[in-house]
Amino acid sequence: MTVNLLNLDERGLIDFCAELGEKPFRARQLLRWIHRLGESDFERMSDLSRTFREKLAQSAVVLPPSVMSDAVATDGTRKWLLSVGANNGIETVFIPEVNRGTLCISSQVGCALQCTFCSTGRQGFNRNLTTGEILGQLWWANQALGAHTHPDGAERVISNVVMMGMGEPLANFDNLVAALYVMVDDHAYGLSRRRVTVSTSGIVPNIDRLRAQCPVALAVSLHAPTDELRDVLVPINRKYPLKDLMAACRRYADASQSDGDAAGESMMPAPLQAKWKRYGAPRDFVTFEYVMLKDVNDSLQHARDLVALTRDVPCKFNLIPFNPFPDSGYQRSEPDRIRAFQQVLMGADLIATVRKTRGEDIDGACGQLAGQVQDRRTPRTRTREATL
Ligand code: SAH
Ligand code: SF4
Repeated sequence: MTVNLLNLDERGLIDFCAELGEKPFRARQLLRWIHRLGESDFERMSDLSRTFREKLAQSAVVLPPSVMSDAVATDGTRKWLLSVGANNGIETVFIPEVNRGTLCISSQVGCALQCTFCSTGRQGFNRNLTTGEILGQLWWANQALGAHTHPDGAERVISNVVMMGMGEPLANFDNLVAALYVMVDDHAYGLSRRRVTVSTSGIVPNIDRLRAQCPVALAVSLHAPTDELRDVLVPINRKYPLKDLMAACRRYADASQSDGDAAGESMMPAPLQAKWKRYGAPRDFVTFEYVMLKDVNDSLQHARDLVALTRDVPCKFNLIPFNPFPDSGYQRSEPDRIRAFQQVLMGADLIATVRKTRGEDIDGACGQLAGQVQDRRTPRTRTREATL
């Protein structure tokens, strides 16, 4: 059977090399060739022995999802639709900024969680992406952007990765974590843990597992300050209500990083560090994402309730103006309302930013990713899966 090496993290590559009778250090060489240098042709991996290259050619490939379309927005945001077989397509978005380049990666074909304001949720759910399909998006984007030509990482074209594309990353835990390992692996992409963000709608047990296994930056899609409203907007809340979610966020922020990333440097911005020192300075913080829906969750009372809800959690807020899609039934909050909401949070000593909408003209903004999803759920499993 042919193995796609994009599916394997260092551990997996070591096992694979052992099966071919090769030493563990070969795994690190492969990581460097494949991910740092973007090489998919074993013949050109010049520091591998001829026999090893021949064995690889017989038993392995480096195969990312293939490109179905490539669109560039007026603001430079670029979106690829990638084929993952059986008439399914996923979307990956590159967002260039002055000091950084962010790649927004998908984790599933569609999403089963059905948040009411999200276009991906509307598409239904087909399946989890494999590790190779998750990593293949990064591999492909590096290739398309010519980023593999800067192998020393001095000029990273993609400096940040956010798991904010299609799907719920923590519902595809094992494949996600293997992909994260490769993203932060110095032999591969070598991204700092602080520059890799997992965004979740709040699958509490897997927030704890992520903390234990690969504590990258965490963003939690909050969107409502009360269970009553969140049960409607983010149905997974019925299973993991706010009290449990806040406790998990607190644990996540308290987690000391398990390795010596940047000499154990804290991930917290300076003002947050100063504030939380009083309470014994947790090392990390959580970013709460909050979509601004006109007359649904954007009153000043909602803002005050948020302050109370998150009192014990080292956090910052990212307010996301709602991005419309056909028949969503929601409207974006007015800019004045968003500013007033932000002021309430900031007045309570919280950091609150408003996310700039990018790539709107190619439907590449948050929540607009629809891809191409063959929904496999029956009406009955739809309701069950939405609350997992
Ligand atoms: N499933 C994960 C990650 C993907 S969604 C999650 O829910 O966190 C990435 C972000 O976009 C989430 O915060 C999500 O709530 C937000 N989002 C979804 N639909 C949106 C829309 N129509 N407008 C603005 N943001 C949206
Ligand atoms: Fe899924 Fe996230 Fe969209 Fe909710 S917001 S339906 S969890 S992708």
